[in-house]
This record gives sequence, C-alpha cells and structure tokens, in this order.
Amino acid sequence: MDPDHALLTRLRDLAETLPGDLAWLTGPPLRADGLRDLGERLCCLGADLISRAGVLDEIAAARLPSHGWIPECGPDPGRRLTHYVGRGEVRLGLIYFASCGAGCFPFYATDPAGKTDRHERCEKCVKEAYRLMSVPPAPRDSARSS
Ligand SMILES: [Zn+2]
Repeated sequence: MDPDHALLTRLRDLAETLPGDLAWLTGPPLRADGLRDLGERLCCLGADLISRAGVLDEIAAARLPSHGWIPECGPDPGRRLTHYVGRGEVRLGLIYFASCGAGCFPFYATDPAGKTDRHERCEKCVKEAYRLMSVPPAPRDSARSS
C-alpha cells in the first residue's frame, strides 16, 4: 500500500469510527483512558498529515522557478503579468496564489529558458517581493513601479 493510500485509509477509518467513539467517550462519566487514546490517535494522524503536506509542498515548490515569479492564469498568453508566488506556499490544486492574490500557473515549470522575463511584472508583487527580501527594488523594477 502506498503511503498516501495508507494515510487516507487511516483518515477514513477515523471518520467512520469517531461517532461511535464519541458516544462512548462522552459517557457520562468522561473516560480519561478513551480521551487519551483518541488524543494520541489524533496527534499521530495529525503529525503524519502535516508531514505529508510538507513533502507535497516541497514537491510543488520544486516545480517552480527559483526566482518565485510565474505567469497569472488567463486566456491571453501575451498579456499575462507575472506575479510573485515565492516557493508556492499558498496554492489550491494546481493554482498558486501570488502575494497580491492573483491565481498563477507555472506554465514554464522551472523556467530553464528564462521565458518568465518576457512578461511584465505585477507592481504589487514587485513591492511585496522586495519587502519580503528586505532589499530595495532593482532599478528595472523601481522604474516601473514609480
Ligand atoms: Zn501580483
């Protein structure tokens, strides 16, 4: 069984057994042993879910260019701005959300050919990216945003 399947099986098992466990746990009287068992079960499953989420985040971040800029989703490829998504910490499925809130997609993956540079950068993201890095904008970017 692959690790994801095993994790989802544990989650489904929790969802199925929790109603019965709750009825038994809440008594009265409250059952300390049952509360402890359930707490340990939740902690263990929670830690494994968080750990797996971290691995998935790393996989998603590895698909992005190291500079953290990717084009926005949109119908016209020639007019797409690029936005700063950093390491892609905020995403929903295949969509990465930029610091300005724009939905973006890594059309060029890690962008080994530098295609991202063909697009104009979002001004809000330029300011935010430099704020996060605590360095002043490059002359190219500061000229655009003023
Ligand atoms: Zn933006």
